[in-house]
Amino acid sequence: MNPERARLRHLPAIGALLSDDAAQELIQQHSRDLLVTALRAELAAARQAILASHDIDTVPTAIIQRAAAALFRQQQPSLRPVINATGVIIHTNLGRAPLSVAAIAAMRAAAIGYSTLEFDLQSGGRGSRLAHAAAALRDLTGAEAALVVNNNAAALVLILSALARDKEVIISRGQLVEIGGGFRIPAIMQQSGARLVEVGATNRTSLDDFADALSDRTAMLLRAHSSNFKQIGFVQQPALSDLASLAQERGMLMVDDLGSGALINTAQFGLDYEPTVQDSLAAGVDLVCFSGDKLLGGPQAGIILGRDEAVGQLQAHPLARALRVDKLTYAALLATLQHYRRGEALARIPIWQMISRPLADIAETAHRWAKASGGSVIKGESTAGGGSLPGATLPTWLLALGSADPEALKAALRRADPPVIARIAGGQVLLDPRTVLAEQERDLLQTLQRARADLAPRADSLSARSDSQL
Ligand SMILES: *Cc1c(COP(=O)(O)O)cnc(C)c1O
Repeated sequence: MNPERARLRHLPAIGALLSDDAAQELIQQHSRDLLVTALRAELAAARQAILASHDIDTVPTAIIQRAAAALFRQQQPSLRPVINATGVIIHTNLGRAPLSVAAIAAMRAAAIGYSTLEFDLQSGGRGSRLAHAAAALRDLTGAEAALVVNNNAAALVLILSALARDKEVIISRGQLVEIGGGFRIPAIMQQSGARLVEVGATNRTSLDDFADALSDRTAMLLRAHSSNFKQIGFVQQPALSDLASLAQERGMLMVDDLGSGALINTAQFGLDYEPTVQDSLAAGVDLVCFSGDKLLGGPQAGIILGRDEAVGQLQAHPLARALRVDKLTYAALLATLQHYRRGEALARIPIWQMISRPLADIAETAHRWAKASGGSVIKGESTAGGGSLPGATLPTWLLALGSADPEALKAALRRADPPVIARIAGGQVLLDPRTVLAEQERDLLQTLQRARADLAPRADSLSARSDSQL
């Protein structure tokens, strides 16, 4: 008999594997069916390895261990918490704004049982879910009316569909932006049945450009925040207040897609000045829309503020029902807005804590990490991200980890539990304390120590190899 056939014959049977103590424990944890499937897959893999003359451990404990690891991997949800050490504060791929303790508590309370989502406690009759955030938003911003939808893209779709279908919308050529993920203003317009009229040049648009394009086919003037890019040099855009006056004079709507929707002056932290929601309303726009999970620091949502009549038309449109948000979003949003009302946004909302975090505090953390991990501390920059404050950075201190193979180290950090997301620059793996939550530090340091220990021998042999090649 050839050696492969002998090894195949010695593979344990499923029944034998299942009677093992370790297997019995796995059945308790998962289920018998899941374990049988996993064991079959491991046996099939072992057979293939044997036939290919590969080395593989086929004793029952080894096979059961591999099945246990596979089961563990399968049970991990694909949506998992990660440690964001990139220094990008509003990281769209990592879920944008982390929520405040109060917002999480409010979501939990709303999730765990029933709530007054559409119930009026006074009358005992039906209430409106729309009322929940509207009062808080009106109070905070002075807007006449407010509406919350799924996200800012949905806000734009609703505004254009309800107020500009089969009509013209005038926008500056410099603002026909792609916000990311293929989301382009012109495509949204087309989808909504509004006709796009572009005016001005890419770098310069004047008030006259808008005035000249107005006709009885026009429904609205639209300003879109350029979000994730910045034009510098010979550039010009008309003042929002001038556009709003023009729209009003001619009986049209002025809509401002603000994108980030800051309620707080960002310039006090050394960032560029980000136009605020209050600025837009003061300029006299009919509607302003922005995201809930960018500089507001709340849950994913699209917030629309403005005049009673225009918001009323949006509410009455059938799409408003399709784009509405759930009780968890209202709960988190209301709690987030409360922080602003109480004047405690900087202290309680995670993204504002990060933005306003003193540099000395970041330095202290970076040095603590360096001491624990054997890295060094270097100067760097954090960014706002998420299409907020394009080009604006905050000075920071970074943990820099030298490695013979920085890509391998970065990947090892990503494989940790919880995964750590870092970046590479100048051949070093960089970690920014600004975006790492205090309660994540212990996990982070453990991961750093483990990753470096695991990689150290390989890294040494790599450098030895490259030395010998010189
Ligand atoms: C981010 C952004 C959007 C999209 O907002 P979402 O909440 O992600 O849908 C739209 N417009 C501008 C100007 C933005 O910056």
